[in-house]
Amino acid sequence: MKTYIVGNWKLNFTVGEASIYLHKLLKSLPIYRDIDVVVAPSLLALQPLSLQIDRHKMKLAAQNGFYQDYGAYTGEVSFSQLRGIVDYAIVGHSERRYILGEDDKMIAKKVDAAIRNKVTPILCIGETESERAFGETSDVIKDQLAGGLREVSDDEIDKVIIAYEPVWAISSTKAAKIATPDEIADAVKLIRKCLADMYGVKLADKVPVLFGGSVNSSNAGGYLTVPGVNGLLIGGASLILNEFVDIIDTAKRVRS
Ligand code: PEP
Repeated sequence: MKTYIVGNWKLNFTVGEASIYLHKLLKSLPIYRDIDVVVAPSLLALQPLSLQIDRHKMKLAAQNGFYQDYGAYTGEVSFSQLRGIVDYAIVGHSERRYILGEDDKMIAKKVDAAIRNKVTPILCIGETESERAFGETSDVIKDQLAGGLREVSDDEIDKVIIAYEPVWAISSTKAAKIATPDEIADAVKLIRKCLADMYGVKLADKVPVLFGGSVNSSNAGGYLTVPGVNGLLIGGASLILNEFVDIIDTAKRVRS
């Protein structure tokens, strides 16, 4: 299976800044056939950046998309509009769940809309600090997986990527903690078991599972060797070009 290195730029960079970053990234990136390098800029930057990227070297992701294809939904951008511009979309990120109130029902519709429009959803799941403290981690993971994948059939599950992002490990969370490889291994094992229960082992094995939460160039190698982890979703560190390039180099080293 490929390795995925995905940078989530969140609400950072103007279109001009994003374009300069991308120009430099493309200059320092060779073509890696076994690594998918992906960045998720703001929606505003996607169209111009889609004309700038070399798709052999890297791909674009949306940070969000709407579940209806068109209609009276002021302010939304649909996956049918994103089709052809992005290859991936982050869906159900914890910042959208907890700041913007997205629930599993809405997230399931977005996953479905992405697949319908040939965009691979990267479905983010993960427990908060208090859910972990109350021993609810397994239930949260199971519920968010079952909820987010509600509309996904056996024929479609190989078009989905799961990102395990414990909310307490995300760098923007107040007093974020660093997840240990053992904690990640346990969660990823559970994710793979849930997927196997839902779709059977053969199909579940085809689903890439990424880890995200305060990943940087120093810890990326360790996280990439956690059993069952197929890549990384990176927020803060992806905004620093050298860091992001170091993480991609680390992935190449660890995976070859
Ligand atoms: C994220 O928000 O998806 C994320 C993983 O952020 P960070 O790497 O900054 O913790």
